[in-house]
Amino acid sequence: MQEPNSAFLWPDAPEADKYSVCVHCGFCLEVCPTYQQLGDENHSPRGRVYLIKQAAEGVLPLDESVVDPVFTCLDCRACETVCPSGVQVGALIEEARGQVFHAAPARGWKGLIQRFFLRAVFPKPRRLKLLAGLLRFYQRSGLQRWVRKLRLLAVLPKHLREMEAILPKVPDRRAIDALPPEIPATGSTDKGVAGLFTGCVMDVFFADVNQATARVAARNGWRVRVPKDQLCCGALQVHAGDRDMARQMARRNIDVFLASGADRIIINAAGCGAALKEYPALFRDDPVYREKAEQFSARVRDISELLVESGFEPPQGEVPRTIAYHDACHLCHAQQVRTQPRTLLGAIPGLCLVEMADSDRCCGSAGIYNLTHPEMAGALLERKMDDLPDGIDGVAMGNPGCMMQLMVGAHRRQADVEILHTVELLDLAYQREEVGTR
Ligand code: SF4
Ligand code: SF4
Repeated sequence: MQEPNSAFLWPDAPEADKYSVCVHCGFCLEVCPTYQQLGDENHSPRGRVYLIKQAAEGVLPLDESVVDPVFTCLDCRACETVCPSGVQVGALIEEARGQVFHAAPARGWKGLIQRFFLRAVFPKPRRLKLLAGLLRFYQRSGLQRWVRKLRLLAVLPKHLREMEAILPKVPDRRAIDALPPEIPATGSTDKGVAGLFTGCVMDVFFADVNQATARVAARNGWRVRVPKDQLCCGALQVHAGDRDMARQMARRNIDVFLASGADRIIINAAGCGAALKEYPALFRDDPVYREKAEQFSARVRDISELLVESGFEPPQGEVPRTIAYHDACHLCHAQQVRTQPRTLLGAIPGLCLVEMADSDRCCGSAGIYNLTHPEMAGALLERKMDDLPDGIDGVAMGNPGCMMQLMVGAHRRQADVEILHTVELLDLAYQREEVGTR
């Protein structure tokens, strides 16, 4: 029930039972990366919750005083981990952004780019693959070499030039489409069907991580099914406030995966995993899809979560590397998955796992935050790079956005550090035992 003078005029507004439980204790302040950087209460969790409450109660209009703090938030959820009252800051931020999306839609170039990517590309797998094809052509035809040689990218801001520099090579179309619809279990037990959610960024830039995920799940007794009609999860749309588009995409994914017969829905991207687990929140006013979304979300597992929960065979192949682990925010804060990736890495013979300081502080990637707020994202990346322990060979993590962000960091510092997904290391250990390196 909205307040009579509320600045939030559209459905799906921030709910009083979410913001009214804040007791203003301030425990969240010291873990909030934007508060740490800016030292401004408005850019802290407590400040943002208060501003949202003021707008909901009609005390403040939905102007820059509210919009800026709401969009400067990384939606990293570090505040939720420490909040004694269980304030769902992430949900409040996302719902408030939904109101801004209606009240003040982005205009000009910004609006055009936003609509192009959020509505015309990510929800359409064919267009996404077409875009990937253009990028592949740019990278392989020699065009990229010439563009760099002629310094044509000098017109771009520094962070975009850096993104271009580290963009992983788009694999062949064959590699992107390499996953068959069904991969039989190769382990000694049959644990059921795991539906693989392939994601959009993972599918295009890190197709090998998806293949590693499927092999590792199959190796541990899961029949892996890859429903071909699935769409991108909609997390980017939720973060941008485009909740109607996110709902459309969620409906399709729910229907496709529930019809696939999957006992578990597995995912290797933290941001997508959190979005899939939170589908029910998108359907709070739709009882039919709310129930379906609950069935769907109850089956979603991060790949590390699935393996530890259902049991995995310790690999025998050696991977003699010293690896630090970075906790992706949407894995540790949003899904409370912290120990499982460490358990997997710790089970790899020869691998030395070292802890890094503040491993669960955001690296600044945060969906497209590094594009919309490059200064804050850049400052957080510097802090993350400063925290990498000396003498490591690589950093493992469970999110493609963080992988790209840390690739930028390694490029910036000319650091000889591999940026890896946790499941790649586990897969490598299994592959090495098959070729008898141990
Ligand atoms: S920790 Fe939770 S209850 Fe305390 S100020 Fe922050 S959001 Fe409010
Ligand atoms: S989600 Fe992250 S950036 Fe946003 S208020 Fe919470 S701790 Fe701060």
